[in-house]
Amino acid sequence: MDDCLFCKIIKGEIPSAKVYEDDKVYAFRDINPQAKVHVLVVPKAHFSDLCDITAKDTGLTGYLFKKCADIAASEGLTNGFRIISNCGADACQSVKHFHVHVLGGEQLSDKMG
Ligand code: AMP
Repeated sequence: MDDCLFCKIIKGEIPSAKVYEDDKVYAFRDINPQAKVHVLVVPKAHFSDLCDITAKDTGLTGYLFKKCADIAASEGLTNGFRIISNCGADACQSVKHFHVHVLGGEQLSDKMG
């Protein structure tokens, strides 16, 4: 997607603080962190949000969630972490490329909404 911010980050056209990359996923630090550790994990393929993912893509999403756990471990989040994926306007999704937030490194709020 030519006008997608995260596609541009994945292609290296916009700089990012890379945490992890392989042929399927890219992970980088959120520019406006909401916790001591705040990493965004995104598929390299463009999906606008969770609802854009079809049954044939579930292998990729399972892989991506496993990578979230691996990244949490590599970031030292041994005491726990939170993953969030905002989907659509009511959830305040601001970048229309499916992504998972990995948050941790401190005690997080017990409120999720
Ligand atoms: P969401 O609001 O769930 O769509 O999350 C989008 C996230 O992307 C927000 O937490 C932003 O802080 C983050 N973000 C926006 N632009 C950049 C950027 N250039 N580099 C890293 N993170 C970004």
